[in-house]
Amino acid sequence: MQIPDIIIAIDGYSSTGKSSFAKKIATELSLLYLDSGALYRSVTFYAISNGIIAPSGEIDRQTLCKSLHDLDIHFEDRGNGSETYIGDRCVEKEIRSLAVSDRVSPIAAIQEVREYVDEKLREFGKKKRVVMDGRDIGTTVFPDAEIKIFMTADPMIRAQRRLKELESKGEKNTIDEVLRNIKERDFIDSHREVSPLVKADDAVVLDNSNMSIDQQLDWVKKLIKDRFNID
Ligand code: C5P
Repeated sequence: MQIPDIIIAIDGYSSTGKSSFAKKIATELSLLYLDSGALYRSVTFYAISNGIIAPSGEIDRQTLCKSLHDLDIHFEDRGNGSETYIGDRCVEKEIRSLAVSDRVSPIAAIQEVREYVDEKLREFGKKKRVVMDGRDIGTTVFPDAEIKIFMTADPMIRAQRRLKELESKGEKNTIDEVLRNIKERDFIDSHREVSPLVKADDAVVLDNSNMSIDQQLDWVKKLIKDRFNID
């Protein structure tokens, strides 16, 4: 299917399958996929690794903000698809751990961190033909995105999917831990002062509680066809 040069913004709650969906769309429609959560997760991993977040969760905000100037987080493809790097180190596995998930939302609530990430995302978005997922893509990062989708799903279904994903990566967690983390992140993300998670007025809601990835793909293709009068 040929589509015009557009930006697709996918926002929504934690573990609704935004990145799997966005990757699938990118492959199917030849778009560049960008995972904004990976950038927030990498800042968090960096902060944990460098003692900027205390074990109690307290954040040394001043040190963190200073380090952002020299923090080189980027995506690279060294043969395994696009992966997240800090400098020369691939951090793709580390940033998906529950330890990082547990600390990421307070880090993502810091204005300077958001400015750091937004600048990177807007640079990528200049090229158009991108699909990006996150919490504020359609509201703050690309308010003019041509297609905006807001994803949601039943919290227990989300927790089960996430648990499976963590298990497949060798991380053992309980369903209660994962569900608690999802609910906590949703709360912090939706209630923060800077760019909270809200549905953009012009976003279309996708509840994928009972949908396969292929059904979701059919849904978005129809949305795009209808929007741009494509046969
Ligand atoms: O999408 P993912 O679950 O990997 O995002 C991790 C966290 O990063 C979210 O819970 C949220 O706190 C933060 N985030 C954000 N804005 C984005 C993307 C992610 O605040 N655009």
